[in-house]
Amino acid sequence: MDSCSIGGNFAENAGGPQAVKYGITRHYVTGIEAVLPSGEIITYGGKLVKNVTGYDLLHILLGSEGTLAIVTKIIVKLIPLPKHRIDLLVPFPSFQDAADTVMKIFQSRITPSVLEFMDKAGVKSCEAFLGKELPFSDAEAQLIVGLDGNSEELLEAECEIIGELCLEAGADDVLVADTQFAKDSLWEARRELLETLKAISEQVEVEDVVVPRAKIPEMIRATVEISEESGIPIVNWGHAGDGNIHVAIMKKDISDEKWEAELEGVIEKVFQKAIELGGSITGEHGIGYLKRKQMPMAVGQTELELMRRIKAAFDPDGILNPGKIV
Ligand SMILES: Cc1cc2nc3c(=O)[nH]c(=O)nc-3n(C[C@H](O)[C@H](O)[C@H](O)COP(=O)(O)OP(=O)(O)OC[C@H]3O[C@@H](n4cnc5c(N)ncnc54)[C@H](O)[C@@H]3O)c2cc1C
Repeated sequence: MDSCSIGGNFAENAGGPQAVKYGITRHYVTGIEAVLPSGEIITYGGKLVKNVTGYDLLHILLGSEGTLAIVTKIIVKLIPLPKHRIDLLVPFPSFQDAADTVMKIFQSRITPSVLEFMDKAGVKSCEAFLGKELPFSDAEAQLIVGLDGNSEELLEAECEIIGELCLEAGADDVLVADTQFAKDSLWEARRELLETLKAISEQVEVEDVVVPRAKIPEMIRATVEISEESGIPIVNWGHAGDGNIHVAIMKKDISDEKWEAELEGVIEKVFQKAIELGGSITGEHGIGYLKRKQMPMAVGQTELELMRRIKAAFDPDGILNPGKIV
């Protein structure tokens, strides 16, 4: 949050927690200038809402992880910041109830700007790490629902509808955060989670599979089964609104031998399940070096070959981020 740049955002096609309502980097970039490995400068697009001139070079470079060109100018469209925002923290007795509620929220035709989930293991770890009690830490799952808009009245009405809908769907309670202080405490566990996991486990492998929203419960159930079968702890959290799940595979006190022998198999089982459910192996972190090996699981041979040819067309000598993606 504090350090990422617009170039990195573009190169990773990043999307924050508000992607559920506002989309990702892709939806905002309208023009670029870039330098090819040959030193030639190219441009595509501009301050345009529409543009279908030939092959869309902008979207080929978008998310290309710095493997095709160095982007030197990025034109983004801006939208007005909504005037008001309310966040809700909603605990559930089961993950299934939380996941079913996500679908019900969308069916209500109110689009939240944020819809995040955490499981009990994640919240409990944060509690231990922060050394203080966090709200609803005994709940099996928690949703953070963010609503925003320009009319305070309308927002409060939407907040009420969502709150009631959650309670009808089995939520234990609904905590409303409409002040900055309340919002900060509500987000504390979510923001600290990765640091927490790193503090309690010497090694943490964070995968970021993505599945169709409706398949989130199935994906989570599969990770629980994989964890139980392998004896390797897994904590899940992520963006319930866009189907992007962070699966943290933790070494904790597992022996080096078991970790080295079994980690890759566990990761591949997680990826296999995501693909089986109509998803893919990365929603926002990209392929880089680490997931290159698993690219053939998610991308067909023909598509992979086409990607190699795109790489060769832009960077025939392979000097940009060599070894990444393809
Ligand atoms: C703790 C954590 C949380 C994260 N959460 C999210 C999240 O919620 N959503 C999400 O989408 N992503 C998330 N990410 C990943 C995120 O996409 C990237 O970390 C970030 O957007 C990249 O920006 P950066 O400036 O840090 O890029 P860097 O890490 O500096 O670079 C990323 C890649 O882009 C290339 N690159 C950088 N600038 C350019 C340029 N000008 N032209 C061409 N290539 C370039 C670099 O070579 C590199 O390969 C997270 C990462 C971390 C570590």
